Amino acid sequence: MVKHCPTCHRDSKEARFFGEFCEHCMRDKLSKKLKDKIEIVKCKRCGKIYVTGQFMEETDDAMTVQVQREFKGYFVELLGYGDKEAKVAVTENIRGEDLTVHKVVELNWKKTMCTGCTRYLGGYYEAVIQLRGAPSRVQTMMGRISRYFERNSEYVSRIEEVDGGYDVFVSSKLLTAHFLEIQNIKPVISYTLYGLNRGKKVYRNTYAVRL
Ligand SMILES: [Zn+2]
Ligand SMILES: [Zn+2]
Repeated sequence: MVKHCPTCHRDSKEARFFGEFCEHCMRDKLSKKLKDKIEIVKCKRCGKIYVTGQFMEETDDAMTVQVQREFKGYFVELLGYGDKEAKVAVTENIRGEDLTVHKVVELNWKKTMCTGCTRYLGGYYEAVIQLRGAPSRVQTMMGRISRYFERNSEYVSRIEEVDGGYDVFVSSKLLTAHFLEIQNIKPVISYTLYGLNRGKKVYRNTYAVRL
């Protein structure tokens, strides 16, 4: 039996039907139901975007995850995006049949500062690596530390010249421990209490390294 769409009067010989309506009208309905605008939180200093609870590099994959979260219950493909808008293909499964609409959504970039940048600008550090020994070896080691921390999305907060070497203030105790292990360096470690975080004592570690 040939069906006729009550909205546009197409019949079931010229279009697919979903229930009593044709696919064209169903697509219009779906498109109207979907939001026109989505918000992306972005760090104004490093450009990372906030996705699933953390800041990460703005890649197509990260953007896709974020867009997908805005259209819960649908399958979403990110076809492309720019400063102002994104093109998406949104698919709804209606009783076992897929209906896909292409839609342009406005992107609303919310500028903020990520946790890493906030800590960096505040001069935050978790550990001090005290490098002592021959000046050339100390210089080489400082270079290695900077590169290693940068590669692992952490940072050197500041460097101070002291008698017999340098003190390197870094953002992560954990990464410092990894680095020294890789370098096969056995430091002398001391701990300084510097505050409380939710009732727990927080220590800064000092790693004395002789080169
Ligand atoms: Zn129709
Ligand atoms: Zn940042």
